[in-house]
Amino acid sequence: MPAETPSPRQGAGRFAPSPSGELHIGNLRTAILAWLFARSSGRSFLVRVEDLDRARAGAEEAQLRDLAAVGLTWDAQAVRQSERGDVYRDAVHRLQDAGLVYECFCTRREIAEAPRAPHAPEGAYPGTCRNLTEEQRARRRRERPAALRLRAGVDSRTVRDALHGGYTGVVDDLVLLRNDGVPAYNLAVVVDDALQGVDQVVRGEDLLPSTPRQAYLAELLGYPPVEYAHVPLVLNREGRRLAKRDGAVTLAALADAGWAVPEVVGRILGSLGLPADGLPQALAAFDPARLPREAWIFEPPAAGRR
Ligand code: GLU
Repeated sequence: MPAETPSPRQGAGRFAPSPSGELHIGNLRTAILAWLFARSSGRSFLVRVEDLDRARAGAEEAQLRDLAAVGLTWDAQAVRQSERGDVYRDAVHRLQDAGLVYECFCTRREIAEAPRAPHAPEGAYPGTCRNLTEEQRARRRRERPAALRLRAGVDSRTVRDALHGGYTGVVDDLVLLRNDGVPAYNLAVVVDDALQGVDQVVRGEDLLPSTPRQAYLAELLGYPPVEYAHVPLVLNREGRRLAKRDGAVTLAALADAGWAVPEVVGRILGSLGLPADGLPQALAAFDPARLPREAWIFEPPAAGRR
């Protein structure tokens, strides 16, 4: 199915990993949740490879293989963001035509050191390049390439989330196109979800703070609103986000340590309060209102050969 064709009317959910390495059990748990949310609400389910930034050779294949191995099914060939430059540029052009884009020449350091209004929210772009004169822009263009930023008309937005209720967060003049020409994550995700007919976004809780920006951008682009569910993360014993160095956390390493795929899936489902005997049984019992709201502290088995 061509990516630009919106899905049929029933809507779609999705899982959108960045192919920066193998998925760990936390990523797999989020993927299973996204699948359960989509399938239990009669939606189709899509996988999108978010490879604009952190792609590592072989990671995409390994991730898709592991998603299939745990029993997930998706309804169209996985879409790769790196092949969709045109759709992101079209969206930027539409915003430009509406006068909602400006060039930004700031370095990270300049942004960190810029003076801010006393009430300016943490992490918000201070607006340094918002009102440069044409002459100032011409001079700065000779020094470094510009990123393109959205001229936001609001400074916060409230979104509704199935697990968090109303969530209010910062909307600032977010980057649309980085100064190396790569579309920014917030733009790509919003454009792709809309063009792929995604109307349900299930992902890790760490992305909740980006959501007000994305909802606002979607609105400016005339896209329909989507439902959100930001699900709890998986943490290590120290209470930090799970990472490869935490031992056997990928499907391959877990298999080596003695946990075959059904055991891993069973433990993930058990951690969600669902029947641990398989995805079909978990799907039959799935009720978003009864999901745990706290992180899952994962104890890996003693590592095997890897
Ligand atoms: N690609 C992002 C990640 O792996 C997820 C984006 C999303 O689900 O919106 O963190």
